Amino acid sequence: MPDLVTHVIAGYGLQRGFRLTPWFLIGAILPDILTRPFTIVWPGSFWWTMPLHTPVGLTLFCAAIAFLHRPGIRASVFLNLGAGAFLHVVLDLFQAHLAGSYYLFFPFSWHSVEIDLIWPETSLYLLPLWAVIGLWLAVKHFRQRMKAEG
Ligand SMILES: [Zn+2]
Repeated sequence: MPDLVTHVIAGYGLQRGFRLTPWFLIGAILPDILTRPFTIVWPGSFWWTMPLHTPVGLTLFCAAIAFLHRPGIRASVFLNLGAGAFLHVVLDLFQAHLAGSYYLFFPFSWHSVEIDLIWPETSLYLLPLWAVIGLWLAVKHFRQRMKAEG
């Protein structure tokens, strides 16, 4: 669906709720970080960057990042980063498009998929709600840390 703020708030809420590592939150924004800057600056790069916004491309990228870490935490990095990226892709599926959408089955199929419930600007209307929820989660987290530290 959404804009980057919505992805961050959803990722942060689940990361805190399920006590996941910060890699989960990074994964929640990873697909757009890997692709959007390039397609905005150079729209012709879409077909080069699009594989990094697909399950196969993200799995390979998450595995590459995990292998940059020591063996003891590779599985944790891969699973948390991958789960965050999975959340991102699932949220994106709800977004409607005028033409084309997400190529979930790349490189096996060019069939594009979307659930088609929300237009891109809808998540912007909901931004104040996400901001309040994000602020509430941050204050709750801060209070828990203060209480734990005495
Ligand atoms: Zn996205």
